[in-house]
Amino acid sequence: MKVLKFGGTSVGSPERMRHVAELVKESGRNIVVLSAMSGTTNTLVEIADYLHKHNVPGAQETVNTLRQKYSSVIEELYREDESKRRAKDYLDRVFNFILRFTEGEFGMAEEKEILAQGELMSTMLMQIYFEENGVRSVLLPALEYMRITDEGEPDMKFVANHLRRLVELEPDAEVWLTQGYICRNSRGEVDNLRRGGSDYSASIIGAVLNLDEIQIWTDIDGMHTGDPRFVENTRPVSRLHFEEAAELAYFGAKILHPTCVLPAKLHNIPVRLLNTLDPSAPGTMIANFAPDGTVKAVAAKDNVTAIKIKSGRMLLAYGFLHKVFETFDNYHTAIDLMATSEVGVTVTIDNTEHLADIVDELKRFGTVTVDSDMVIICIVGDFAWDNGHSYCSQAVEALKPLSVRMISYGGSNYNISMLVKAGDKVKALNLLNNKLF
Ligand code: ADP
Ligand code: ASP
Ligand code: MG
Repeated sequence: MKVLKFGGTSVGSPERMRHVAELVKESGRNIVVLSAMSGTTNTLVEIADYLHKHNVPGAQETVNTLRQKYSSVIEELYREDESKRRAKDYLDRVFNFILRFTEGEFGMAEEKEILAQGELMSTMLMQIYFEENGVRSVLLPALEYMRITDEGEPDMKFVANHLRRLVELEPDAEVWLTQGYICRNSRGEVDNLRRGGSDYSASIIGAVLNLDEIQIWTDIDGMHTGDPRFVENTRPVSRLHFEEAAELAYFGAKILHPTCVLPAKLHNIPVRLLNTLDPSAPGTMIANFAPDGTVKAVAAKDNVTAIKIKSGRMLLAYGFLHKVFETFDNYHTAIDLMATSEVGVTVTIDNTEHLADIVDELKRFGTVTVDSDMVIICIVGDFAWDNGHSYCSQAVEALKPLSVRMISYGGSNYNISMLVKAGDKVKALNLLNNKLF
């Protein structure tokens, strides 16, 4: 058995939903995870934003626009009046539920209730479609089995027990359908796995049920050598190691949510990236093995800030780095890249919430300089230092026309990272794509 996850674009219109239903039927008895229809979660965020700002008319107008969109989806998706009526009843309940938040207190817990509605709607619409077409599909409510701990990590034991029980309750199902992204927290409140988190849902499900494969179906034929939104002439990569996929996802390859790799890797379950728009394309296989000694792809992480701490007293001063790291730790701020010299150290962060306080504290240890609006360009492949590859020099050579603020190589076998100005990102990505692939 496999888990198949279909993203927002894949279920973004009645035509796409019908197409997904066909793919699902052909794939055999599997678990199917759906995202919200594309644009829906963004609209729900917008509604919540109006409610946070006490702008009730703004929220109502946005709800109405969304309601109209879904009304036409129902009209187009179903043949039978009975299906249309059932879908309409469900959606009326959802929109009335959302509108109730125009009264009373509105905080983060209420926002999360609203954000959960996108996946609840897409799965219910699909369930009704399956029923209309005689497919024995069973809806597994994610809010009954997907749970996160106080630390925001999936509670794997809870998920395993509850999900297994729900699946076993329906041994005759042809398809088990469930929501991505949504969950409950340790207090039992509705919560989510962060934006883009449906990939994570699929990976957690694959891991806890020890399935044969985790398939992420999206709108492109696998992980490309570069981000096709910015780079010309990219091509799909056929195989990636889990470690390579994790680096790419973390450093900006949007096709895969960064958290999605770990559960699959820990349980050694292959992840396949596939294209709903071109189902016969081979896509990308992510597993415990991949071609050695080759470069696979380049990704870019935006909104990075570099902080340099220079200290004349660093010479032989053990404990200096400890103090620097402790400062970031105290403010729960993760460091991405690091470069050191005898007299200074530069680190990069992406969460600048506590930047002012961090800089203030670091000034006790040396002179501090901040470069904002930077981008990490991350070149990923199997770069074991002793396997004779020349990718590091090729990457430096490719970026010769640009100013590179910082380079990090050797932290792992899988990445070479360069920090450039945000304005140089697209140029850097294209230069590297031309040189390396
Ligand atoms: P879904 O809605 O199915 O989750 P996403 O929009 O999250 O889909 O991810 C797919 C998109 O990721 C692609 O359309 C593409 O624009 C973008 N993307 C960014 N980097 C890459 C890459 N290296 N390879 C493939 N797609 C990428
Ligand atoms: N619908 C959610 C989002 O847009 C989750 C997902 O699509 O993965 O972020
Ligand atoms: Mg996605």
